[in-house]
Amino acid sequence: MIPEKVRNYIKNNFKEGKVACLTGAGISAESGIPTFRGKGGLWERYDPEVYANTSGLISTLRTHPQDLANFIVDFYSLLLKAHPNPAHRALAILEKENILSSTITQNIDGLHRQAGSQNVIELHGNAFRIRCTQCSNTVVFEKDKLREMLELFKINKDSYIKILKVLSRYFPRCATCGLRYRIDIVLFGEILPQDELSRAYKHLNNCDVLLLIGSSLLVYPAAGLPLYAKEKGAKIIEVNNEPSALSGLCDYIITGRASEVLPEILGVLGYA
Ligand code: NAD
Repeated sequence: MIPEKVRNYIKNNFKEGKVACLTGAGISAESGIPTFRGKGGLWERYDPEVYANTSGLISTLRTHPQDLANFIVDFYSLLLKAHPNPAHRALAILEKENILSSTITQNIDGLHRQAGSQNVIELHGNAFRIRCTQCSNTVVFEKDKLREMLELFKINKDSYIKILKVLSRYFPRCATCGLRYRIDIVLFGEILPQDELSRAYKHLNNCDVLLLIGSSLLVYPAAGLPLYAKEKGAKIIEVNNEPSALSGLCDYIITGRASEVLPEILGVLGYA
């Protein structure tokens, strides 16, 4: 599936610590988590402009609390069911073999870490963490606790007050500043965590090759990272089953599913 020219490039240029990657929703599609723009699934039932947006979520809580409870249950049920696929695992192997310096991801599903990657830069946060809205303390949202919360939503979803009670129980007030915790993901229009963004730039400064995997590259500032890497002299390889907004910038394109292409890259490098 990988064209000969690209195979040769990979063989000769994937050097120790000189490859970085930027992943998007497409890498997790085959783990059962629908992409934003793909057909079918969660985001056709729940408009991301409402459900991935702070003001949309707050007004849904006020006007249609049952819809919000249903969304939380559907969203987390999908994430809790998902497991890393061969693409996530291949990236973890490339990191272990010291080829890949870092995995920069726009995903919030935690699957890269679950697959064994250690140097993961989560530009848009992680759905399995909560964060204080004021002082940015973070706490892991344990999966058992999450499952318990979903069960409570299922039985209490008819009442605004009961939904608020469930929310306040699982998103408590911060012991340091007294403000409330929220899910630690970046919603539409919010600022990215600056420490994660700086780490991403640092890796891009040092990489010879950037792999773009399963992203439409329509969401900024994440989509600005390939442009930065290119300016710094990196070659760009895209792995996607369709062209992205930045395909024209890429030096090499591998058209296909991430879960097939990434293990093939391991094979080219002799790790399969
Ligand atoms: P996107 O939905 O805009 O685009 C998905 C991309 O993946 C498309 O280019 C599509 O062609 C490609 N794709 C689909 N299946 C693929 C496969 N099997 N192999 C390779 N490529 C495949 O996603 P995006 O660019 O990541 O941007 C959307 C935003 O949505 C991000 O900010 C992200 O935080 C968020 N999001 C995250 C998740 C997740 O955490 N898994 C899921 C949905 C959305």
